Amino acid sequence: MSPQILDNALGAVGHTPLIRLDKVAKRNGLKCNLLGKVEYLSAGGSVKDRIAKAMVEAAEKEGKLIPGKSVVIEPTSGNTGIGLAMACAIKGYSVIITLPNKMSLEKEAALRALGAEVVRTPTEAAWDSPESHIGVAQKLQKAIPNGIILDQYKNINNPLAHEYTTGPEIIEAVVSTPSTSSKPSSGKVDVLVAGAGTGGTVTGISRAIKKTHNKDCIVVGVDPKGSILAYPSELNNADEGTQYVVEGIGYDFIPAVLSRDPADIDTWIKTSDDEAFAAVQVIMREEGLLVGGSSGSALSGALKWLASDAGRKVAETEGTNVVVLLPDGIRNYMSKPWFLKIAMEAEPTPLAGVIAQVLQKK
Ligand code: PMP
Repeated sequence: MSPQILDNALGAVGHTPLIRLDKVAKRNGLKCNLLGKVEYLSAGGSVKDRIAKAMVEAAEKEGKLIPGKSVVIEPTSGNTGIGLAMACAIKGYSVIITLPNKMSLEKEAALRALGAEVVRTPTEAAWDSPESHIGVAQKLQKAIPNGIILDQYKNINNPLAHEYTTGPEIIEAVVSTPSTSSKPSSGKVDVLVAGAGTGGTVTGISRAIKKTHNKDCIVVGVDPKGSILAYPSELNNADEGTQYVVEGIGYDFIPAVLSRDPADIDTWIKTSDDEAFAAVQVIMREEGLLVGGSSGSALSGALKWLASDAGRKVAETEGTNVVVLLPDGIRNYMSKPWFLKIAMEAEPTPLAGVIAQVLQKK
C-alpha cells in the first residue's frame, strides 16, 4: 500500500509485515526460511483486529447495528474485545466485554481506555455454564435493550477475515519476494503454523493458502497442554486437566469456526507454558520482536514440528518457507509474572559487569 491519509484507525488494521526469523532458524539448525507474521503491528495490537472490523462491518451491512443505540456484547480472551472496542469507539456503539479472570490487567485497561465496560468471569467456569464469559454475555444480551453478540465462536466473518486478509497478505509477501542465492525461496508458502483459540485464524489462513496458492501446504495447529482443540482428540489425553497461563489459545469446547477437516489443518502440536515463554524470550532477544505469550506457543510448536519425523525434511530443505503466525504483542502482558521473569531476571549482559566497574570508580 502506498502511503496515504487513512479515514480512521480501522484503515490501519492488518497489513502486517512478514519478517525473517533468521537467528532463531540458525540457532535451531534449520535450513528452511522461518518467517514470522507479526500481528502486534496492527492498529489494536493483535490478529483479532481483523475479525472485529469484519464482524462489525458485516453486521452494519445487515442493518443489525444502530449508532448511539446498539450495545455490542462479546465474550473474549481480550484481543477480540480490544478490536471491537476500537471499532465501536470510532463508529459510536457501546461495548461490554466479558473476560475470564485469568486474562491480563493490561487487556482490561486497554478495553476501558477504549470506552468499553468489562465484566470479569471465573476462569474455571465451564464454557456452557451461566457463570462463564460466554454465559454472562448471553445473560447481559437478553437483559439489555439493543444488546447484540457478534459471536466470534460462530460468526463466519471470523475465519473469512483471515481468508480474505491475513492469508492473502502472507501469500503476497512470499510470492513477491524473489529467490536469491543468499536467501533462496521456493516461491510458495510450504508450511503454516498457528495457534488456535476460536480457530478462526488457522482455519481462514489455511483455506486462503490451500484454495488459491498451494494445496499441498502443510498447516500445523498449535494447542496448549490442558486444552482440547487438537485433533485427533487422543493428543489431548496426556495433559487433561493441566492449567495453562498462556492467553488467547486453547479451549474446553470446539468452536464452530474451527475446522475439524484434516484437509484444512493437517496436524496438531501441543505446547507447554514453559516452552512458550522460553520462545518469547528468544524472539525478543534474537529478533527484537516484542511478541506476546501465544506467539511463543506458535514458535515453539513450529520448532517441535520441524524437529519431528514429519517436519525434518522441510527443516533440512533450503528455500522452504515456514510461516509462523505471531498473534499479539507484549503490551498485553507487561505485568504478568512470566514476562517480568524473562525481562527482569534474565541473565545479565556482559555490559552489566562493565557498568558496575565504572560506577564503582566514581
Ligand atoms: N493468540 C492470542 C493472543 C489471541 O488473543 C487469540 C484469539 N483468541 C489467538 C492467539 C487465537 O486466535 P483464534 O481465535 O483466531 O484462534
